[in-house]
Amino acid sequence: MSKLRILGKCPSCDNGNLEVRKKEVSGKKVELYACSNAKWTTEDEGEMFELTKDSTCSFKIWQNSLGRYGYWLKHSDVRGILNQEDVIVELSSKKIRFENNKKTFKKVKYKKYISLDIEYGVSILFDINIDED
Ligand SMILES: [Zn+2]
Repeated sequence: MSKLRILGKCPSCDNGNLEVRKKEVSGKKVELYACSNAKWTTEDEGEMFELTKDSTCSFKIWQNSLGRYGYWLKHSDVRGILNQEDVIVELSSKKIRFENNKKTFKKVKYKKYISLDIEYGVSILFDINIDED
């Protein structure tokens, strides 16, 4: 068996490490970066994940946490936010525009800092603008 990859120390407990685990969520392969003290199980093929009774920590980050912004986390991003480094990611959103009374969608790309969030794993710092050069 291959050894689990460790991305860093768990920010939520004293002795946990954040491990890379492969999960399947609704038929899609998604990596889960979870504390070694947290065991997540699913009984309905990834619709819902529950902590096992022997888990002592619940910290986790899903690889697709920022999926709705068109971005999947890289291992280096997770390492970075665990180390409190400045991590910048390129996100994209759809902007609605009206042209000749027609609604059109335009994909807009932008960069933002991300940071660690104990509750949600990762959060986007929308208030900080990043100058493009
Ligand atoms: Zn932990």
